[in-house]
Amino acid sequence: MIQDIGPHRFDRTFSRAAASPNDFALCCGEDDVVLRRRGEGYALPHFAELGLAPADERHVFSLDGVGCYLAAMPADVPEGFESVSLRQLRRVRPMETAFAAATALQLRRWYRDRAFCGRCGHPMEPSTAERAMVCPRCGLTEYPKLCPAVIVAVTDGDKLLLTRYAGRPYRGDALIAGFVEIGETVEDTVRREVMEEVGLRVKNLRYYKSQPWAFTDTLLMGYYCELDGDGTITLDTNELREGFWQHRADITPRDQDVSLTAEMIERFRLGKENDR
Ligand SMILES: [Zn+2]
Repeated sequence: MIQDIGPHRFDRTFSRAAASPNDFALCCGEDDVVLRRRGEGYALPHFAELGLAPADERHVFSLDGVGCYLAAMPADVPEGFESVSLRQLRRVRPMETAFAAATALQLRRWYRDRAFCGRCGHPMEPSTAERAMVCPRCGLTEYPKLCPAVIVAVTDGDKLLLTRYAGRPYRGDALIAGFVEIGETVEDTVRREVMEEVGLRVKNLRYYKSQPWAFTDTLLMGYYCELDGDGTITLDTNELREGFWQHRADITPRDQDVSLTAEMIERFRLGKENDR
């Protein structure tokens, strides 16, 4: 998955240290970030490589001990570098470059969207003590936006319920997914989303893994569960264009994918959905 970058180290520790020319410059536009081409893949660029002199850029995290800073888009992207969109980042390798770039874009969006206080309208300022925005007039403190959501693999013996989204750019196989609503447990979200999207009841919920999904400010929680009763699908056509039962043997193998969804489908294909 995109966050599985070992032996590389992603360190979220908050820092106010100023950037140096050898730190990474994450030059972010509205929906894209500048990366350096390296062999078949990409790397994060250093300030010096881009010909940028660090000024008062904001530290966001570090990768393998090197500080990563949000920086402005250069007027021209130099030879050997490329502006990569958020959507393209799903296919960027190695994974540590994709993960750092997607997370930087997430933080950049959040800082942009918290320019003003939601309570009193005054301009917000970055906290000097933690990764937060603070209103100097009324004291409101805001932390980076994370929306909890579930990914649900519904199984019936050797069959897995696969879906395809309606009206979204991603066209491949998916699982049931949805955001946790206010006043709801995650387990209730699992049952509600399955009922809403395909009209089925489920039992024997087992938590699998979580995933920080920077693309949509989401914290995903993956669950396996079993069909309870009749397996006739009633599709919510606003959300989905297809929903169908797929036998293990007919699932396409997928390896080295970025998403929790892909890993959960692959584990089911291999018959490992009950392994710890
Ligand atoms: Zn305020």
